[in-house]
Amino acid sequence: MPAPKCRFCDAPLDVTFCDLGMSPLCESYVPVERLDQMEPFYPLKVWVCRECLLVQLSQYVSAEHIFTEYAYFSSFSTAWLKHAEDYVAMITDRLGLGAGSQVIELASNDGYLLQYFVQRGIPALGIEPAANVAAAARDKGVETLVEFFDEPSAVKLRAAGRQADLVIGNNVLAQVPDLSSFVAGIAAILKPSGTATLEFPHLQRLVEGNQFDTIYHEHFSYFSLLAVERIFAAHGMTIFDVEELWTHGGSLRIYARPAADASRPVSERVLALRAREEELGYRRMEIYVAFEEQVRETKRKLLELLIGAKRQGLRIAGYGAPGKGNTLLNYCGIRTDLIEFTVDKNPYKQGKFLPGTRIPIHAPSKIDEEKPDLILILPWNFKDEIVKQLAPARAWGARFAVPIPEATILP
Ligand SMILES: [Zn+2]
Repeated sequence: MPAPKCRFCDAPLDVTFCDLGMSPLCESYVPVERLDQMEPFYPLKVWVCRECLLVQLSQYVSAEHIFTEYAYFSSFSTAWLKHAEDYVAMITDRLGLGAGSQVIELASNDGYLLQYFVQRGIPALGIEPAANVAAAARDKGVETLVEFFDEPSAVKLRAAGRQADLVIGNNVLAQVPDLSSFVAGIAAILKPSGTATLEFPHLQRLVEGNQFDTIYHEHFSYFSLLAVERIFAAHGMTIFDVEELWTHGGSLRIYARPAADASRPVSERVLALRAREEELGYRRMEIYVAFEEQVRETKRKLLELLIGAKRQGLRIAGYGAPGKGNTLLNYCGIRTDLIEFTVDKNPYKQGKFLPGTRIPIHAPSKIDEEKPDLILILPWNFKDEIVKQLAPARAWGARFAVPIPEATILP
């Protein structure tokens, strides 16, 4: 097999960031009737490019598969809706958007964000490849095109006179296989005075929080500010501001503009974050290379905790069936020998089995029926909320544990 190449700069990839072994696609829950069949496993090996510092996976899964199979409706989460509404109020004010402006969102999902622009009378256009999700957006009155966004589709929009004062891309940049075409497309649809804002998980948070379970086949790229600045600069854009957000365990929201628009200087926040990443060592390879040992140690600690509990005769259940749980359980080799079952509120997942590990997924009421002694919270980023929900389990002496940033029994 030829050496893989960087998806941005084409340099050969020879530095491993972390190798999580072979893993099935993290959202491919197994129904009962397929329990006797095999599942495809793909390498979950992450590289860092020496040239451009982009942390990345090789692509094994088509973009069509990712964007059209996962009918994830953002509107189901009230926290996301609040995040979206707050953003719209802030950006409308900051950019002075109004009835004469044009907003375009890439991977606009079910219109959960654009609906707030529509309510304010600001023209908004969504671009969303999943037809069923796009239909839900249209039901909310959000104009939505069903297509993949890339440079050719951007050029078509521009030719049709649809240039944007604001381009939004939230939690899409990591999932774009052809980064250059996507970013070139943003440059093509921005007005000369336009702004693009993009949100994506921040590599520094992934490393410091040991969030290796957020690595999936569907997430091709993991960005530092240093890497993303370089990518935007290559397409004639300057990142002039940045915010650090709480979402997804710690994300960045970058603000980009055409490089030629010098009326908006690069903010202190950009300079400070760039300096911090440099100080922490994100321009050198050592910090990337050290990550893998940290991940291995997390696996050893989690297995120690679970095996210790089993030796004491305790019953262990999981809580949640998120994609990140599947990366974790497959990497650690945890099956029903350690975790009897898990529960999830999403009815689509109930009655199915986790990919690879084949741990059964039940409705949350199963916890009350089975009364496990230890509950491992897989969506650790929501642990406070989940511990509150599970408070009745304390009545039979159940304890709660999280796997990340390290395996810990909660007080
Ligand atoms: Zn590169």
